[in-house]
Amino acid sequence: MLQAVMTGTTRGGRSWTPTYVTALNGKRCIGCGRCFKVCPRQVFDLVDREMVADDDDDEGDGFSDDPHKVMVIHDGDDCIGCAACARVCPKKCHTHAALPMAA
Ligand code: SF4
Ligand code: SF4
Repeated sequence: MLQAVMTGTTRGGRSWTPTYVTALNGKRCIGCGRCFKVCPRQVFDLVDREMVADDDDDEGDGFSDDPHKVMVIHDGDDCIGCAACARVCPKKCHTHAALPMAA
């Protein structure tokens, strides 16, 4: 059975379904900053990759060995679901989902 999701309307009254960012694949991210620049809210933060623990960890210290920057989701609750970040990302890092309608 299809689950009902939250929808809104465009100015012209057409139905619009926001899709909110739910994850960002830091392994694919090249730290280009495109999603940060296009986002109208305060969702993302560009950080040093060594600040983010991941599996690229040859020393076993819990941190990546890649010295470059990586984008992270800083405040996902501020997302308005415009999906602009996904449109500009050259590496398809973002995952989005509509909000299920409250029961
Ligand atoms: S969907 Fe829109 S508001 Fe949400 S993170 Fe992406 S660009 Fe920002
Ligand atoms: S647009 Fe994609 S590759 Fe560029 S910083 Fe954002 S998530 Fe990373």
